[in-house]
Amino acid sequence: MNFANGGLPGGKREKLVVIGNGMAGCRAVEEILARDPGRFEVTIFGAEPRVNYNRIMLSPVLAGEKTFDEIVINTSEWYADNGITLVSGDRVDHIDRANQTVVAASGRTEPYDKLLIATGSEPFIIPVPGKDLEGVVTFRDLDDVDRMLAAADKGGNAVVIGGGLLGLEAAHGLSLRGMKVTVIHLMPTLMERQLDEAAGYLLKTELESRGQTILTGANTKEVLGKQGKVTGVLLEDGTEIPADIVVMAVGIRPSTGLAKAAGLDVERGILVDDHMVTSDPAILSVGECVQHRGLCYGLVAPLWEMCRALADHVTDRPTGYAGSVTSTKLKVSGIDLFSAGDFSGAPGPDGEPCEDIVMRDASRGIYKRVIVQGNKVVGAVLYGDTADGSWYFDLLKKGEDVSDIREALIFGQAFASGGALADPNAAVAALSDDAEICGCNGVSKGQVVSCINDGSHSLDAVRSTCKASASCGSCTGLVESLLSLTLGGEVESGPKTLCKCTSFTHDDVRALILEKELKLIPQVMQELHWSTPDGCASCRPALNYYLLCAWPDEYEDDQKSRFVNERMHANIQKDGTYSVVPRMWGGLTNPRELRAIADVVEKYDAPMVKVTGGQRLDIFGIKKEDLPAVWADLNAAGMVSGHAYGKSLRTVKTCVGSEWCRFGTQDSTGLGVQIERMTWGSWMPHKFKIAVSGCPRNCAEATIKDFGVVCVDSGYELHIAGNGGIKVRATDLLCKVETEQEALDVCAAFIQLYREEAHYLERTAPWVERVGLQYVKDRLAEDGAIATYAAAFRYSQQFMQDDPWARRAEGERSDLHQHIATVRPMEMETVS
Ligand SMILES: Cc1cc2nc3c(=O)[nH]c(=O)nc-3n(C[C@H](O)[C@H](O)[C@H](O)COP(=O)(O)OP(=O)(O)OC[C@H]3O[C@@H](n4cnc5c(N)ncnc54)[C@H](O)[C@@H]3O)c2cc1C
Ligand code: SF4
Repeated sequence: MNFANGGLPGGKREKLVVIGNGMAGCRAVEEILARDPGRFEVTIFGAEPRVNYNRIMLSPVLAGEKTFDEIVINTSEWYADNGITLVSGDRVDHIDRANQTVVAASGRTEPYDKLLIATGSEPFIIPVPGKDLEGVVTFRDLDDVDRMLAAADKGGNAVVIGGGLLGLEAAHGLSLRGMKVTVIHLMPTLMERQLDEAAGYLLKTELESRGQTILTGANTKEVLGKQGKVTGVLLEDGTEIPADIVVMAVGIRPSTGLAKAAGLDVERGILVDDHMVTSDPAILSVGECVQHRGLCYGLVAPLWEMCRALADHVTDRPTGYAGSVTSTKLKVSGIDLFSAGDFSGAPGPDGEPCEDIVMRDASRGIYKRVIVQGNKVVGAVLYGDTADGSWYFDLLKKGEDVSDIREALIFGQAFASGGALADPNAAVAALSDDAEICGCNGVSKGQVVSCINDGSHSLDAVRSTCKASASCGSCTGLVESLLSLTLGGEVESGPKTLCKCTSFTHDDVRALILEKELKLIPQVMQELHWSTPDGCASCRPALNYYLLCAWPDEYEDDQKSRFVNERMHANIQKDGTYSVVPRMWGGLTNPRELRAIADVVEKYDAPMVKVTGGQRLDIFGIKKEDLPAVWADLNAAGMVSGHAYGKSLRTVKTCVGSEWCRFGTQDSTGLGVQIERMTWGSWMPHKFKIAVSGCPRNCAEATIKDFGVVCVDSGYELHIAGNGGIKVRATDLLCKVETEQEALDVCAAFIQLYREEAHYLERTAPWVERVGLQYVKDRLAEDGAIATYAAAFRYSQQFMQDDPWARRAEGERSDLHQHIATVRPMEMETVS
């Protein structure tokens, strides 16, 4: 539909003018268009100089989790395609009801047949001395976020006045941006309108553990300043807190000035009836600026319902709005918090007492409280595990009788259904059609299902059509369940996620680890909303590797997240014994090493010794409890672990080269030893094999290795991404170099690129096939890339080249070597 190119021929359309290009104003227009697209000629005035965006996502923008472009709801194309005139950056100053016109600050005058006031709220500024100083900001629009970001760029101290939803989200964002944050809250409990004391305490403790200072019961007396700029905050008790920026987030007031001046009925908000009509029948109002049946709202869910009622009314099919019950979530990553309804515990209007059902799991930081009155849920506060929030909210909104499930209510929907809904899909199937799925965008289960039935067959398609899960993402799991319930096996998958515990891909996870500076596995799981408490056998080893690669100097290897061979530093065999492979640099050995190996074989009764394809000796049949002693004996002869069990450098195979062979062009053995000395001990996405052949006869089989060197008269041909396994793949030629040093540098750089970009459990061959040889060449050909990657690799190696056998031989993790039950290897996931 493109009204800009003609619209309805000959048909006269009523003029609808909207004041406020915010969430409610634009949603009302969208709802009208959905019902009767040709009905109105629409002009929208917005005081902000931009298109309509999702205001609730300003918090993730401040925190650096989203960009502004990602939170835009309606692009300029949307206005044009729907024939809407957007007058942005021009505040309406006056409504002339007699002449049915509005006048904007620019002088622009616009006539209307119907006027919609959707001016939202204004942040409340506490009237203390210093409130007008430079550096005192509110948190309402993108300009406020820009002001906070500018302050955060300089670092220093931030004081947030107000420990409600907005204040805590501002504090979280500023803290993530590197500021030292103090939150001042007048009441004894944070978010006291949404949380009871117990949940408020858990929240405070968590925020303090993240480095914020939280002062509750603290009253601001004055904002201090010097030369017109803020320097601190003075509390009533005399405490002074230094501040480079002060964020006032103490509440909002409906923006009613324009309506009041126009003579409309206004109390706290603009008075509207059930069809969102004001005291003037030509003027409607929706959003935070209205007062409906005595209530003003400060959350988005009610305004979706208001907009629906308004659109029904103006398109002549009135339904009416009866008020809303609201629920709240805090958008602070890693903190799961849900609150809905009344948790004051006050008796009902007929004196009916409230009953609290409480569950605490201190070790997992979980607190749940459901408030029941007359067999109905009237409130719920969940901290730490909010999975059942939608279910409690649905029970609450519908006023369902819960006497039958009363005993199991607190354990959640799956348990209360007697296990019948233990499968999350079954639990979602049991939700009613009007159950809210996406609170941020006001989308119900029925709407998601019809959007899927209308052709949105992937998560991305659902997000872009009905907007469910397009904002904070906390309902992604619910939308995925609805996709699989509705489509069965027909769900179109997006990029492959790391595993079933997350909706992020390998690349997303790696990028976010760096961006958010995540340095522990539990922290990654919290911050990236893992759907399982401790991950699984697929994601734990991957995260362990990604963190090791990202923070080589800081991250402490998590042994629990390694496959059994890596935990034991040896390869488990069919009979439960282990094989032990000491490193032999470049395939070289000497009498001392050979004697030590022979002694080990005799002393520990090893039934077999085998020369491997990687030019080493493999001692078979060592009992688990003997491993430390075997390693100690091998260490004593100067040998270290050969990492034959690890996702790491395995061997550097060499031929005898120019030292001994008449065809040899270069010292392939010497170069192989140097390469192995440089690369041993490095953890990689998968096992990594290297070979150096002294001439193109290629006796060391360098062209089926992850990195192969073929020496030629003029230097060294460097090959990559070969594989001699099930699917044999010959290498691709990466480049030719002239000196050994260049060969070493390119080798280090290639390994580092592979370490940083391949997915965990992806060998070099499938990685190069996935990204393309040219991509790898281009990356390494970038200015200074070889030196940079090689330096990063060598830096990381400082922390990796630590013989694990030596530490175990000295007694570290001796528990692992006690003779207990047979160890069963973890299932390995193959990355395609
Ligand atoms: C940082 C932040 C986080 C939030 N998080 C949540 C959350 O997690 N969950 C939730 O439910 N709610 C949340 N909210 C609240 C939610 O954003 C509001 O309820 C919602 O935006 C209200 O919509 P509205 O259209 O009434 O007002 P707004 O979205 O504020 O839109 C009003 C628009 O009108 C414009 N305007 C005002 N006067 C004039 C005039 N005279 N002429 C022209 N234009 C004018 C304003 O500039 C503004 O753009 C959050 C709010 C903020 C600020
Ligand atoms: S690869 Fe060439 S140099 Fe090496 S052993 Fe074989 S023939 Fe000799």
